[in-house]
Amino acid sequence: MPLQEARGRGANSVAAEVKPVEDCLFCKIARGELPANVAYRDDGVVAFHDLNPQAPVHVLVMPIRHIESLLALGEGNLELVGRLHAVAAQLARELGVAERGFRVVINTNREAGQSVPHLHVHLLGGRAMGWPPG
Ligand code: 5GP
Ligand code: ZN
Repeated sequence: MPLQEARGRGANSVAAEVKPVEDCLFCKIARGELPANVAYRDDGVVAFHDLNPQAPVHVLVMPIRHIESLLALGEGNLELVGRLHAVAAQLARELGVAERGFRVVINTNREAGQSVPHLHVHLLGGRAMGWPPG
């Protein structure tokens, strides 16, 4: 579906971004209301170590602004996806897994295992990865 078409459907509309986020776990982390081991922060992106790491390096990179998932992206925030990945790559370098290899994953909705409805990129590294992913 063209992005233009997706825009009109509500999934990525302003409503999807602006609905109340007081209860969102990752918004609370972004606002500093819940503790996290923060690895990176700028004006739009925050990255923190996963509480339940699935690899020696497991960092979550997310927008500070609440966006539910990839399905909620619109033309106004496409650049953000690039920023999330650029930060993941930079952290992979800084955390010493870039050369060996690392994986970035964005789980979207139930069957993919998205458990927190605030868009985030998993950066996983420091061990050999299987393929296909489970
Ligand atoms: P998802 O399942 O949505 O793709 O990823 C959510 C991730 O957030 C999981 O890997 C989970 O371990 C992590 N997580 C859940 N709650 C917290 C928390 O309070 N702090 C941190 N640092 N990670 C969390
Ligand atoms: Zn949120």
